[in-house]
Amino acid sequence: MLKRICHALGTALCLALLCGNVSAKDEKPVLRIGCEGAFAPFTFIDDKGEITGFDIDLIRELGEGLGYEVKITVYPFDGLIPALMADNIDAIISGFTISPERAKKVDFSEPYFLCGLNFLIRGEDEPKFRDLDSLKGQKICLQIGTTGSLFAQKQLTGSELKQFNSPPETYLELLNRGCSAVINDSSVNDFFLARHKGEKVVAVPIDKDIDKEYYGIAVNKNHPEMLDTINRGLKQVRANGVFKRISEQWFGHDISSTLEE
Ligand code: GLN
Repeated sequence: MLKRICHALGTALCLALLCGNVSAKDEKPVLRIGCEGAFAPFTFIDDKGEITGFDIDLIRELGEGLGYEVKITVYPFDGLIPALMADNIDAIISGFTISPERAKKVDFSEPYFLCGLNFLIRGEDEPKFRDLDSLKGQKICLQIGTTGSLFAQKQLTGSELKQFNSPPETYLELLNRGCSAVINDSSVNDFFLARHKGEKVVAVPIDKDIDKEYYGIAVNKNHPEMLDTINRGLKQVRANGVFKRISEQWFGHDISSTLEE
């Protein structure tokens, strides 16, 4: 019976009814999304105080395309998985890397972007820090709970690792000479660099063979139907050209092509 009603109503509405996310008859079901607020260009607060970015456009288009109202809540990065596991949100989108450790706690959608890490140094240090090995024994700035931070903990034992809540704090510390390098996703470090050409900071790549990261949307393991919904939405925005359009708006090209590398 329930199955038949669900079939008639459509998955999104049905799930929302079952989960109690629809209040009145004609209101849309709500898709509750969590992200962090300082990971430009994926999820960040703009000058007007609004959350914006590629991931925000992506999840809004994806959710609305499936008939949802998309509600975004900003969390500290290391609060995202706990919020998802506590069912306070339905999904995380936050430049969030698919990793085996995280996959023990959450389920991941199909990947939508391939990226990797790099590090930023002050321009004057370019001759000194040309590769990862040269960072050994140095002070390194990192964002708490990120893959960049975990990478440094494994690869740079013996270095002093300084942890911050967000990328802007790590960049400030680098400029203030509080550390020699910032390790984070190359997409985010490069965006900072492009926006701060006057700062005399340079990016150094990390060998792609030791670091390749796919971004995915995370959902609660207890809600496999939500995973299907998100994957269906991703497929839809790819097929109807929406993914390409917002990609071009934020990056100047279609970032789906990274998945073919
Ligand atoms: N991609 C990195 C990770 O998932 C950083 C994400 C972020 O800080 N928003 O750990």
